[in-house]
Amino acid sequence: MENIVLFSAVKANAGLDFVTPLKAVLDSHWYVLGNEVKLFEEEFAKYVGVNHCISVANGSDALELALKGLSVGSGDSVIAVANAGFYGSTAIHAVGAKPFYIDIDPVSLTICPKALAAVIETKPSAVIVTHLYGQLANIEEIVRIASAAGVPVLEDCAQSHGARRNGKQCGSFGTIACFSFYPTKNLGALGDGGAIITDDDQLAKRIRQLRQYGWTQKYQVSIPGGRNSRLDEMQAAILRVKLPHLDAWNEQRRSIAKRYSDAFATLDMQLPSSTDEDYVAHLYVVRVKDRAAFAAALKEKMVNTDIHYPIADHKQPAYAVDQVASLEETEQTCEKVISLPCYPGLTDQEVDRVIEAVTAYFTEGK
Ligand SMILES: *Cc1c(COP(=O)(O)O)cnc(C)c1O
Repeated sequence: MENIVLFSAVKANAGLDFVTPLKAVLDSHWYVLGNEVKLFEEEFAKYVGVNHCISVANGSDALELALKGLSVGSGDSVIAVANAGFYGSTAIHAVGAKPFYIDIDPVSLTICPKALAAVIETKPSAVIVTHLYGQLANIEEIVRIASAAGVPVLEDCAQSHGARRNGKQCGSFGTIACFSFYPTKNLGALGDGGAIITDDDQLAKRIRQLRQYGWTQKYQVSIPGGRNSRLDEMQAAILRVKLPHLDAWNEQRRSIAKRYSDAFATLDMQLPSSTDEDYVAHLYVVRVKDRAAFAAALKEKMVNTDIHYPIADHKQPAYAVDQVASLEETEQTCEKVISLPCYPGLTDQEVDRVIEAVTAYFTEGK
């Protein structure tokens, strides 16, 4: 019996022709900020339905540069959740600001609008909304609350490429949005990559300068805080091959998630809140009481699991946090979440095996 791994891009990548576009980049002898990058930026902006896409080196840089673009800096406060793997927190610390964590909605596991409304009068410099596990947050409500207070919303779409509600895509609701193209993401390169998207012309212009030393033109540093963070031509060429398949891959992920959710409906665990278009099943995360026993039982049947994420941001040892808002739901969730294999190319037989292993754990006693 073969091991079922938690993540794999092998089968999704198989059958795609990467060699021809890579050869074209090699032959062009142009490796950074060339035509492939320009075309990918245009195609991705069009796919999401926004005016501007600025590609960068990875998703973490995207978050940092988006905050810098919004002029968030030293001493500022940024609202975020504490269950999303510390990525937003890393960016907040990198620009010298402080995270202000608020609680999650216990159903969707994304930022709770009521918790946001309760603290919005503290006038944070921005709100980061992570569409965690591929689930679109209650972003309409969040944007309404934040906009009324004049606070920009940054959507972290690193797990939610292509998630939509009423035809509107994640990343097109807030002021600005960030994506990662790490290989295992729903849209993944063959290395690191990231992007920032926005409809705001001035913001886009600023971020284009920030990703390249703060230049307005060669060797003229016109704005402070510049960096080097660029997507290279090879990764852009790969992403251009893969982007047209994104919706079909998301549909495959969702249909696996649906099979799981149907099979697990009566079992003693909590399931993802949606299997509709607003969920692109980046991760299929369930909540169980005895997570260690559950993981061990699946491991015995050669089904791999992982925990996204075991340590809440406000409990990470590297940073001291003066937490004020209650994070009760966040803390409870952190103890229970566990991820099951869910990705394009996972076969029906493998899905059956996962279902059997999970069902056996609950029905054959522990
Ligand atoms: C992966 C991820 C990031 C970071 O992206 P990198 O490209 O790995 O830097 C940021 N936010 C979330 C929610 C992620 O899942």
